[in-house]
Amino acid sequence: MSDCLFCRIVAGEIPADTVYETGTVLAFRDIQPRAAVHVLVIPRAHHEVLAELAAVDAPLLAEVVAAAGEVARLEGLHENGYRLVSNVGRDGGQEVAHVHLHVLGGERLGPVAVPLS
Ligand code: 5GP
Ligand code: ZN
Repeated sequence: MSDCLFCRIVAGEIPADTVYETGTVLAFRDIQPRAAVHVLVIPRAHHEVLAELAAVDAPLLAEVVAAAGEVARLEGLHENGYRLVSNVGRDGGQEVAHVHLHVLGGERLGPVAVPLS
């Protein structure tokens, strides 16, 4: 998927501030952080929707979630807690069509869902 932004980050074509990686998963800081800590966790393989990843490769989904937990530990979030977010589609506010978990924390967060209007 050469036109996918996150596939290009996986390929090293676009630089990213990597905080954790394995052979199958990559975690890097969001370019526009919405919290004191804002890290994106992605599978290296291209999948569009989290629930579809669960259907076709459940072990990889588990690796993404485990990596999010590892990021939380590395960033010192495990004691006070953190939020995992996956936006899906237009109404969900998904900008990049490559599965990613947002790891948000480092401060008290507000309500989960804030409609645009
Ligand atoms: P979404 O809105 O699809 O759930 O999340 C996409 C996220 O990717 C956004 O939070 C956005 O700030 C982030 N993002 C967009 N372009 C880049 C980039 O080039 N590098 C990094 N590190 N993050 C990006
Ligand atoms: Zn991709």
